[in-house]
Amino acid sequence: MKTIREKAWVCVYCGFHMDAATIINEDVEPKEGDLTICLNCGYIYTRRNGEWKVPTEEEQAEIPNEVKHKILTYLIARKQVVREDLSEKQRKETK
Ligand SMILES: [Zn+2]
Repeated sequence: MKTIREKAWVCVYCGFHMDAATIINEDVEPKEGDLTICLNCGYIYTRRNGEWKVPTEEEQAEIPNEVKHKILTYLIARKQVVREDLSEKQRKETK
């Protein structure tokens, strides 16, 4: 796994600011056509002209179901972690 600094960009869906990408499958630089997701909301981006862009309808159609399944699994797990974190904060605040 390798994290690289990127030109800052803002998620078009939730407004989350990002300036890095973590490559989880290979220890390489991101390449054209790679996918990433917003860490806050899970919105999918594709690598185009060296930047993360909202995929076109054609690019979305080319995303393999296996990859969509992995993203969905990540989002479900993330939602569970966020929910547990919020519960923990609420417990601390009520004490
Ligand atoms: Zn987002």
